[in-house]
Order: sequence, then structure tokens, then C-alpha cells
Amino acid sequence: MFIDSHCHLDFFKKQELSKIISDNILHNVGHIVIPTINFTNFNKVINIAKYYNYSYTIGIHPLFINQYKTFNFLKFKNFLVNHKDDNHFVGIGEIGLDFSKKNNVDINLQEYIFLEQIKVAKNLNFPLIIHAVKSYDRVLKYLRKINFSHGGIIHSFHGSYQQAMNFIQLGFFLGVSGTITYKNANKIKTNISLIDNKYLVLETDSPFIPPSWLFNQKNEPKEIVNIAKALSNIKNITLCEIEKTTTFNILKALPRLSKLI
Ligand SMILES: [Zn+2]
Repeated sequence: MFIDSHCHLDFFKKQELSKIISDNILHNVGHIVIPTINFTNFNKVINIAKYYNYSYTIGIHPLFINQYKTFNFLKFKNFLVNHKDDNHFVGIGEIGLDFSKKNNVDINLQEYIFLEQIKVAKNLNFPLIIHAVKSYDRVLKYLRKINFSHGGIIHSFHGSYQQAMNFIQLGFFLGVSGTITYKNANKIKTNISLIDNKYLVLETDSPFIPPSWLFNQKNEPKEIVNIAKALSNIKNITLCEIEKTTTFNILKALPRLSKLI
């Protein structure tokens, strides 16, 4: 079976969900990891994950922190501690740093909130789901600074080969998304082709990052199979091999998943 390591299932309308779930069964998408992005969606994500026997990660996305000028870490930590024994809770994320100019979110605040969340993950022994845009080296700096050793996944990785190696050295896996299907994706395709398969996991990030054939329509988790096909072409190995390897890898990246699958 395929596992979608990053899908915002809570962004779909309630009436869309049952079709998505039956499509998943049809396409052999056996599991979805749903990351939170904001305090306001924590409970919604947890409820969806439990209802469908999927899993979730808890964290505050770097593009949703402006409203947390007076971020209450005690409240955040307590929330995590209260859920830490829940089998569906598999990591801290989606957290990270997004330095894209168009988003223009205060960098100091991003760094502060990112660092605090890594510290909590370290204390609770949870892996991370990391969102990084134009910030891979800074993310690496913080992971090294606090000696983070629980690994996790670099979501929709699009950095250099050297940056990939640096993350792998720190115990991270790299998320392969629909970006590998874009016409101008030569750089990421080349880098992915060079990275050992044992460090790759699949993701859709649906409803975002639509693969090229969707022409900006809403992405869905069943597309994981077509993304896997695109990856099997890049890697020149069978789809079955991609399925087996990436599913094995995600269980290593998010070890608590093995209690659910
Ligand atoms: Zn995401």
C-alpha cells in the first residue's frame, strides 16, 4: 500500500471526504498523515485522523504565526503533553521557516517559534515534519544547534543534493511531492535521482501542490500513486519497488505509525 506522508485532509469539505476515502481504498492508499498548521485546526485534524484511523502531527506552520505575537507556549506544550500517548499522534509539524518574499512573515518570530517547537519535540521524543522555503541552511543550523536527533521528514524537498545529504545525516527523510512532475523541475529531478531510495517518502500535500496533469485543480491523496509512477520513472525502478520502499521508509521516519498500520 501507499502512504501519503503529508495531506491536509481538513481542507476538504465534509461532503468531499467520503469520496476521497473510497478513492483511497480503490487506489491502495492505505494511510494518510495529516499535519496541523494552526491552533484553530488542531482539534479538527485530530478528529478526522481518529475517525478514519489515519494519523496526525501537531505544529504551527511558519506562515500562520503572525497572530501568535503573544504565543502561549505553555498552552501549546500542555496540549502536546495531553496528547502524547495517543497512537494517532506521530510527530511535530508542520513547522519550519518560510523566507519566500511574497509571504513576508517576520523572520525573527518565525525562528523563535520554530526553535521553541523543536525543543518541545526533543523533550517529547517526537520526529518533525518540516516546511522550508529558501531556508534549508537556516533550518539545518537550528537542528544542529539544539542537537536534534529524532529526525522526521523534510516536506516537499526541493533543495540541493548537498542539503539533502545534510538532512539525511541528521536522520531526516525527504518528501517527494507533485513538484517532480513539473516541466521545469529538472534540478529537483536530478537531485532526487541521485539520492538513495531508502531516504525518500511520498506525499501529495493535497489539496495543494497539484501534479502537472491537474492543471491547478485541487490535488487529492489518490494522486500519490501517479506521483509514485513519476518517481519510478526518475529512479528507473518498478512502481512496486517504489511502493514497498517508501512505505518502509515512512515507518522509520515516523516510528509511532507502526502502532497504527
Ligand atoms: Zn503542508
